[in-house]
Parts: sequence; structure tokens; C-alpha cells
Amino acid sequence: MDRVALQKCSYGMYVICSIRDGKMNGQIANTVFQVTSDPPRVSVTLNKGNLTHDFVVASKVFTVSILSEETPMPFIGTFGFKSGREVDKFVGVNYRIGVTGAPVVLDHAVSVLECKVTGSMDVGTHTVFIAEMVEAEVIAAGNAMTYDYYHKMKGGKSPKAAPTFVAAEIPAPEAKPTKENATMAKYQCSVCGYVYDPEQGDPDNGIKAGTAFEDLPDSWVCPVCGAPKDSFEKMG
Ligand code: FE
Repeated sequence: MDRVALQKCSYGMYVICSIRDGKMNGQIANTVFQVTSDPPRVSVTLNKGNLTHDFVVASKVFTVSILSEETPMPFIGTFGFKSGREVDKFVGVNYRIGVTGAPVVLDHAVSVLECKVTGSMDVGTHTVFIAEMVEAEVIAAGNAMTYDYYHKMKGGKSPKAAPTFVAAEIPAPEAKPTKENATMAKYQCSVCGYVYDPEQGDPDNGIKAGTAFEDLPDSWVCPVCGAPKDSFEKMG
């Protein structure tokens, strides 16, 4: 059995949000599907270890923000590689409280759905939730990010909690070295797959373009998942 065959399935990139006792949380999921048209129902598969999963079980509501191709990796990192048990994922994020009472993330969304759970199925590590869509809105023009685009164009990885996780992923094709970056190696985060490119630096965190990985301060951490510098491996 060749499990790589499964990687030919197409998926999207979504922020799933829910609420419990007034506390909000959200996470990235790739498995949202419309399952019926009349009434409009969708399904989402969430890992039982995720806080958002417990919130959906408790409140029976969730929202879906369908992310655009332009969504920056640090945004995906916050919702996909950090836990709401440790950080407040909504700091600096543009959202509104929807009709179900759950937050609806608006940043980087091309459209949003609000859903009430009508059924669920225990599938071992995950729960599949079926829900009726009670509100929906197109937020912005642009292409929705597919899971394939996330992997190939953004260099993204799947966390262990993803239903589609595979231990050894096919590496993204490496960029051809140019004159400018030939002397400075790229480094990849072993936790989330973020690539530090010295040609770009990390301007959001005060690292100027042209800064070699070796010259980053020891306090620098992965801008996507927060892993320390020694979690990075030299590429190529
Ligand atoms: Fe990382």
C-alpha cells in the first residue's frame, strides 16, 4: 500500500474557531467539506487532543474561515502550530462574533461559514463533526489556498495532529541558488517547515535582509511556530 497516493487528494486551508464558557479558540484544519446542499451541511475533522475540538464538543458550534493563498506563514503558525492552552491566538487578529456566538476570523479569509453541529462520529484519533451552515459570507476576492499550495508554494508542513499527517513528507523542490544567496545557506525549522532565507531576513522580527542564519541572535525563534534556533537544519 503506497500512502503517497493519499497526497493526491485535494484539500484546503481553514481556520476553525469555537467557544466555551466565553473563551475563544481556533485552529488550522485542512479537512472541511460540504456534505449536502439542502440543507447546506459541512463536515470538519478535528484532533481530539486539540483545544478547539473540546470547545466544539461543548458548544456544538464552530466557524470556518477559508484562507487565501496570500495568508502569511506566521498567521498559519499561530493557529496551526501553537496551542490555545498556552497563547491567546486572537491577539492582533481581526475577527467578529458571529450568530452562533463563536468568533469568525476575518484576516486572510476569502469567505467564512458559521455552523451548528448536528452529528459527529468518533474515528479514533479524531472526531468528524457534521454541521448545518447557518450563516456564510464572501469576504474577499482571491484564490483559496489549497493544501497542495501550502506545501509546495509556502513550504508548509503538517503537524502530527493533522488527519493527513505523514512521517516523511516529500520535500518541497529547492529554489535555485542565485548570485545573491549563493554564499548564505537557507535553514529549515524541523518543527513546522518554515524556511529562513538570509536574502529575505525576518523583517517582522527586526532581522534585516542579508542576515546570515549564523548571525541571528540566540534569542531569535521561528516566526511561525516559536521553536528555538537550534531546531533549524541547514538546507541543501
Ligand atoms: Fe517553526
